[in-house]
Amino acid sequence: MRPLVVALTGGIGSGKSTVCRRLRELGVTVIDADELSREVVRPGQPALAEISRRFGSAVVNGAGELRRAELRRIVFADPAARRDLEGIIHPRIQERVRHAIAACTDPYLVLCVPLLLETDAYSNDIDRIVVVDCAPETQRSRVMARDNLTAAEVDAIMRTQAARALRLQRADDVIENEGEMAEVLPQVDRLHERLLRIARA
Ligand code: ADP
Repeated sequence: MRPLVVALTGGIGSGKSTVCRRLRELGVTVIDADELSREVVRPGQPALAEISRRFGSAVVNGAGELRRAELRRIVFADPAARRDLEGIIHPRIQERVRHAIAACTDPYLVLCVPLLLETDAYSNDIDRIVVVDCAPETQRSRVMARDNLTAAEVDAIMRTQAARALRLQRADDVIENEGEMAEVLPQVDRLHERLLRIARA
């Protein structure tokens, strides 16, 4: 039997990684789309060879690794290039996600997809949506501290992401992460118990 597939999303800095870390501590299988997006472009992977053919060998360094900053620079101002890149990477991430779902024998699993609502790549795979939520100002200050970015740089990223209201509207469950760490972790524990009950029902 297929596990209940619970998608987890939220804006940058909302606390997705923090929540996923807790879920893993609880023994939950967490499939992380960001992790997979790095795996599919590791040295020797077919996607990396395709990227090199499309964007030129300058996007790969001497050790055969992707030069992310260089690739970001190329696709930043070129929507066609960005679409080509996504066309190379996304199907391979989705293939790995579906493989991991098929291999999972737990009652439920969590699929962490930062841009879940911005694409509908997983709408046929998921059963529920959990949103990690905090105020945009909180996202901004946490990301500035974590990634050493300016407020303007964080705002530019946030503008490419779904609005808070839309995310909340799509959520089956919300983890409210405005307060202290000590307030968010028990919410994750309660959510885990609830999802186990739902999955077993
Ligand atoms: P995301 O994965 O959604 O981008 P993170 O889980 O990495 O977000 O959280 C963003 C930053 O804020 C991290 O440095 C994290 O340690 C910190 N953080 C997350 N939740 C809290 C909280 N409740 N209180 C204080 N700092 C937090």
